[in-house]
Amino acid sequence: MNEKERVESLNQLQARLEFFRDLGVEFLVSPRKKAEKSQPAEAENPLLIAGSFSGSPASADGEEWERLIRKIMSCQACPLFKGRTQAVPGEGNRQARLMFVGEAPGRDEDLQGRPFVGRAGQLLTKIIQAMGFSRDEVYIANVIKCRPPDNRTPRPDEVKACSPYLLRQIELIRPRVIVSLGKVATDFLLQSPKSMSELRGNFGEFQGIPVMPTFHPSYLVRNEGNKEIKKMVWEDMKKVLKLLES
Ligand code: SF4
Repeated sequence: MNEKERVESLNQLQARLEFFRDLGVEFLVSPRKKAEKSQPAEAENPLLIAGSFSGSPASADGEEWERLIRKIMSCQACPLFKGRTQAVPGEGNRQARLMFVGEAPGRDEDLQGRPFVGRAGQLLTKIIQAMGFSRDEVYIANVIKCRPPDNRTPRPDEVKACSPYLLRQIELIRPRVIVSLGKVATDFLLQSPKSMSELRGNFGEFQGIPVMPTFHPSYLVRNEGNKEIKKMVWEDMKKVLKLLES
């Protein structure tokens, strides 16, 4: 590594530490603890316990995933397909214990075909890292798989058309806990008449899976100087970590 790269890497580290400080992170999970947490959780996967797969669970699961991704990539079930560069199915560990669900792809996601890669995505990545995980240890998806024009909020008919894909992803992953990012994901998963500020920070439930509603990272980006909001999100994530460790 040359001098320029070293300075750049130190600057990145400093920015990350400053972000963790703003969140109110009091600790970083040690790599050892992280390794323990990222073990495949087969014994805790109700799908495997129930023997829901015929034949090898891994291969049946793999084929099902491939079918699902192909279907999403070629889907024309709602008008959003017309404006997409590509659909964004989601990515990460298909046996993750922790799943993040957001609203819909934005411009960067639409171009790259990956969820949460723009500014909000970089923020989510930092939050995941502060929790002691890497992006490929968790699963990240959206309720809607194609970018709405000008990043507008998805319409109810679009959510209805697209939601079977997310439902199948959740069924296949069967995570220990889901974090719903923002109002669209929270409304979809919890179906509650309460507002986001009433729901945020308290576990709800989706098909027996605990759901922690928290602010969407783009809300944090829009309120960048507001450390209180960051701290609230970190408080929510601490509850998620506690549940994962229980
Ligand atoms: S948003 Fe969902 S339902 Fe609509 S075209 Fe894309 S994948 Fe299909």
